[in-house]
Amino acid sequence: MNRVRVLLLNAALGPLDYRVPDGMAAPPGSIVKVPLGPRQVTGVVWDEGRLEGEPVAAHKLRPILGVYDSPPLPETLRRLIEWTSEYYLAPLASVLRMSLASTSGYSGEKTITEYRASGGMPERMTAKREQALELIGDSQGLIRELSEIGEVSDAVIRGLVKAGALEPVNVSLDAPFPLPDSDFGPPDLEEGQKQASDQLSKAVRDREFAPIMLNGVTGSGKTEVYFEAIAEALRMGRQTLVLLPEIALTEPFLTRFTARFGCEPVSWHSGLRQSERRRAWRAISKGEAMVTVGARSSLFLPYPKLGLIIVDEAHESAFKQEEGVKYHARDVAVMRGNIEKFPIILASATPAIETRQMVEIGRYEEITLPRRFGGAELPDLAAIDLLQDPPPRGSWLAPTLVRAVQETLDRKEQSLLFLNRRGYAPLTLCRTCGHRFQCPNCTAWMVEHRLLARLACHHCGHVMPPPAECPECGAEDSLVACGPGVERIADEVTALFPNAKIAIVTSDTLWSPAKAAEFVHRMEANDIDIVVGTQLVTKGYHFPNLTLVGVVDADLGLQGGDLRAAERTFQQIMQVSGRAGRGDKPGRVFIQTHEPDHPVIEALVSGDAESFYEAETEARRFAGAPPFGRYAGIVISSEDEKQAFETARTIGQTAPKVEGMMVLGPAPAPLAMLRGRHRQRLLVHARRALDVQSVIRDWLGERDWPKGVRVSVDVDPYSF
Ligand code: ADP
Ligand code: ZN
Repeated sequence: MNRVRVLLLNAALGPLDYRVPDGMAAPPGSIVKVPLGPRQVTGVVWDEGRLEGEPVAAHKLRPILGVYDSPPLPETLRRLIEWTSEYYLAPLASVLRMSLASTSGYSGEKTITEYRASGGMPERMTAKREQALELIGDSQGLIRELSEIGEVSDAVIRGLVKAGALEPVNVSLDAPFPLPDSDFGPPDLEEGQKQASDQLSKAVRDREFAPIMLNGVTGSGKTEVYFEAIAEALRMGRQTLVLLPEIALTEPFLTRFTARFGCEPVSWHSGLRQSERRRAWRAISKGEAMVTVGARSSLFLPYPKLGLIIVDEAHESAFKQEEGVKYHARDVAVMRGNIEKFPIILASATPAIETRQMVEIGRYEEITLPRRFGGAELPDLAAIDLLQDPPPRGSWLAPTLVRAVQETLDRKEQSLLFLNRRGYAPLTLCRTCGHRFQCPNCTAWMVEHRLLARLACHHCGHVMPPPAECPECGAEDSLVACGPGVERIADEVTALFPNAKIAIVTSDTLWSPAKAAEFVHRMEANDIDIVVGTQLVTKGYHFPNLTLVGVVDADLGLQGGDLRAAERTFQQIMQVSGRAGRGDKPGRVFIQTHEPDHPVIEALVSGDAESFYEAETEARRFAGAPPFGRYAGIVISSEDEKQAFETARTIGQTAPKVEGMMVLGPAPAPLAMLRGRHRQRLLVHARRALDVQSVIRDWLGERDWPKGVRVSVDVDPYSF
């Protein structure tokens, strides 16, 4: 009899044994439907013997009910899933779910029905109908499948179709994607670029594991260069994955890709409709989608013939997933290349210290592009000492910066003011009694969003209308906004330059690829004079007429004592500076700070990145911090503060004594309360070579936590 172990998508259960009925082919990797109690559930046939657990007696085995008509998950992908699960101490099934990506792309149906507004209004309007039509408006004419609409029931939709307000649209899930053409629009590469691209193309041809740090200054043509590696992969019939840190960056990427390859790549991100996801998943798993561009979640998709991964802006902390499986997409990408034998290109103007260290010890190769394309100069950076050159009371822009913006306006060029804070003000308080508006669910202030007329928590999404009076003392007109967010800076700029065209760019305003495209078009048409934006505008964009960058508050990122605070601030300011002067006009950058002699600011102004990196690397080495040592966080949370603390203390007391490892805490986690749960953290600090995962696995074991307590492990954490 043929028995197999099936890993179910349901995380609560381990792999289970099933019988393969006679005449059924269910090779490893097959996506199957199996019985579980009274239900039928989806799972994947795993390799035999790999998974733990007692085999069930043969006569008790239940049969596999069916095999989906979809390619089996490749062996290499199953190994990657196992590695990720072991390294990040996450359940196998949770990682597997990322591969199947909550689509049912494997289910075999050919078309699905979506609904479009037909423009007509139903004679009888009900609240439900109104809500449904509103939802349709929100998704550019096409609403999702019925199951996706949430509160709106099938009956309401059918009623609207009958009334002529909606029309059904059949969407084919098998419609092919166009094939990128490697010879569509080849670039004229400069000498240095040519060398770099030859090296990358060779690595693609070699089909060996090769992590490569593509270290090129902003505007040096990293994208042009790695496009040639993609072209090579296409010629060889191998798939490519390009990982971007934010979906807002997809739009400019698609445009450039189309210019080079004649059509768009397949995109993969959280904003896709279900039908788009399924179609993409299917084309990817069949090896028909040759180039995919996506956010980190696209890393676990079942590409059958992947030959290249590019991680663009590879230093970005957005590649670290903080919820669910807490993995780092950059590191998992390297592991995927290792298992499947292909090169991984980590492109950045400011590589992470971890990556630089891998080059240093000879594990990664380095390819550099030290100059901007077309002879463009890197911008001049200068610090503005806010003590010497203070902004007028109640404002945030120093006179020097204001003058620079005026000069830029006079030359009909564009300026960018960067402040990494959404909303109008980060804190609202009552002048009379000192009451501060805090989120009821999180250790965080409620942030005022004047454009949306509300206060919002940036961690849990809790919102409240702007209060008319203080809830504590009842005083009216006593509430004041403290500190600036981008909206407030935009107000200041509007008051200073009433005739300038100003755009605010944050995740609140650029929440979809379409919005991002609109922003790009307006910039290119010079329909914007001054951009006020968060880190969303610091990367990827190329606006030749943007010549001035002002960093409103360079000190912001340096506060808080985070392990990566200095590095991140340095990278962020380098990135945003990189937006200035990319065309034939030179760029200028002003950095507002209270600490002009801070090593980060000095390095930026002197342009001496190397000594900054060296000093920072030495400091890490001295502290045994990554990449020289490692951390793992164990977060214990509960709605009951005492319970969280007690459990954390108990776990802490049972910490094993291991040479080269220290357990710090418990102490309140970086967000001591999040979404109504109190969080305590134990921080494991260990030698680099120590197998922390094994230690933690043995330590936490298969214990049952008190009811209401959750324990989650974060290996190589990014939040401190
Ligand atoms: P980076 O990603 O390194 O900041 P980009 O790849 O965005 O640099 O290149 C900067 C700009 O220069 C882009 O507009 C790009 O199209 C242009 N560019 C770079 N190399 C070339 C080339 N060889 N031929 C034409 N344009 C180029
Ligand atoms: Zn909150």
